[in-house]
Amino acid sequence: MVLIRSSSYQSKKCWIEIWSIDGGRIGVSTMHKTETPHMGTAITGMIGRARQQIVQMKGYSSARSLSGDEETLVFLDANECAHEPFIGARKLARYSTQQPRELQRAFCQWLDVSSRNLTITRGADEAIDCLMRGFCEPGVDNVVICPPTFAMYAQSAMLQGVDIRQAPLTNDFGLDPVAIAAAMDEATKLVFVCSPNNPTGNVMNANDITNLCTTCDSRALVVVDETYIEYAIDAGDAASLIPELERFANLVVLRTLSKSHAAAGLRCGCLVAASDVTSLMRKVLAPYPVPQPVTSAALTILANDNQRRLSAKRAETIARRDEVMGKLAKIKDIIHVWPSDANFILIEAHDAAALCQRALKGGVVLRNQSHQSGVGQAVRISIGSEAEMVQLLAALRGEKVASKAQNRRYEIVRNTNETSIAVAIDLDRTGPISIDTGIGFYDHMLDQIAKHAGFALTLECDGDLKIDPHHSIEDCAIALGQAICGALGNKRGIGRYGFCLPMDEALVTVALDLSGRFHFDFKADFPQPMVGDLPCDMIDHVFRSLAENMRANLHIAVTGENCHHMVEACFKGFGRALRQAINQDGSEMPSTKGTL
Ligand SMILES: *Cc1c(COP(=O)(O)O)cnc(C)c1O
Repeated sequence: MVLIRSSSYQSKKCWIEIWSIDGGRIGVSTMHKTETPHMGTAITGMIGRARQQIVQMKGYSSARSLSGDEETLVFLDANECAHEPFIGARKLARYSTQQPRELQRAFCQWLDVSSRNLTITRGADEAIDCLMRGFCEPGVDNVVICPPTFAMYAQSAMLQGVDIRQAPLTNDFGLDPVAIAAAMDEATKLVFVCSPNNPTGNVMNANDITNLCTTCDSRALVVVDETYIEYAIDAGDAASLIPELERFANLVVLRTLSKSHAAAGLRCGCLVAASDVTSLMRKVLAPYPVPQPVTSAALTILANDNQRRLSAKRAETIARRDEVMGKLAKIKDIIHVWPSDANFILIEAHDAAALCQRALKGGVVLRNQSHQSGVGQAVRISIGSEAEMVQLLAALRGEKVASKAQNRRYEIVRNTNETSIAVAIDLDRTGPISIDTGIGFYDHMLDQIAKHAGFALTLECDGDLKIDPHHSIEDCAIALGQAICGALGNKRGIGRYGFCLPMDEALVTVALDLSGRFHFDFKADFPQPMVGDLPCDMIDHVFRSLAENMRANLHIAVTGENCHHMVEACFKGFGRALRQAINQDGSEMPSTKGTL
């Protein structure tokens, strides 16, 4: 049994959809042939190759997206709650627009494109799926993929009932224009190019791609997946193809925050293309695809200073990759290590499954890629942290590997209107120590803490020093306390307590318990209001903020004559006490309660 539903479309037009009684659509809508295309605009560029039902379809539009200024209007159009949901987050009660404007602006600034040429998606995966749904008629059209390559292209095609044609890469994993041309026919709508390619790791030759755009002309879109391109850009080995959009109406570039911006869990990326393609994608997308917390996190990630930090991290990853490649090449049973322009490496082994098994025995999970055509017995390895790479190499060498060492590193970025602070700490390394708060004497004092506690610390603060140093000093202490607390993790095996006594003529008593509970007691009578550029009345605040954010019990008492000595004694003494308390020996919980 079927229900037939008809709807009017721009007064004169209509379409018919056939629905089953249980709500599934079993017939596709058809338009009356006499109609002019949507909004009367001529079909240009690639849109002639899109699914005509979608071209003709009016995209979902909310009253919100049709209205004016979001800041000044009262929205009683979408049945939302007028209050927030009591979880401390803001702007959750309301639907955001389909393409949140602020986020669009940030993406456009990053990629240097106009908002007409960009559609935000839930990661590159959703962009692939939208292209499939927007361009490929199920059961009729086909797409071309170049294996070995990313599995989602075929997966998405399958889900849409679209035929998959293969044009394998050449022996050195380059595009094969002859094979692509041979795989294409009149019903080919999309050609997928992954650069750098997953799993082979290499960037594709840019001329090969632009030539492909010329060959495909107005028949098929060339979809270039640049998920890993930032690594190649940072290494100076390649450029994005985005500027080529000016020359090619059939070029689509996919970008994502997942792999290059440490945000795979965020599900945020975009599709960059000619404006007729991006508008079609917005019709295919869900009405509200980008959750508000995603927008707000993505904005923070895309901010310039954060991009700078991420780029520095990528440089570290690239350096580590190149180092690990050399070491992998020497491991028994590894035949070949392919060059990489990304944050992973593909290796050829005698027996890929056995190699993965050996890694697993050492606690490391790798991806066997032998199912891919053209790679033989291959394994893909992501570049992890330094400790993870040490563990991997030991595992592959068949050395005995200690069970996953508790990682006592922590990074935190804390932004307020007053300060912007980045802290990275590693409790199990003694350096490097690099501190820049903009307050010279305070830098010297925080340096004392790290030096005497014996940990690596990088702390940068960009604060409102023009007003006074108060915010910077206090916020750095808060962030440092949070970083120490985060790095301590479950606190297994730590000394927990620390104490310390004299320093020159100044006598400081520091007693510390990393108990998980906050208590603070400070006894000091500094003879001067300032040491260097550090106000002495801030010393109390610093240690209070540290103790509170470390969730520690801290008592400090200092006496003396020289103010500089007294202050320095507090910081050194605290560092020494901290050294004892964080020192890890075994894995026993230092509490009869079993938790701290
Ligand atoms: C991981 C990966 C993706 C998925 O990206 P998301 O933005 O997380 O959806 C897309 N393309 C390639 C080549 C990938 O390796």
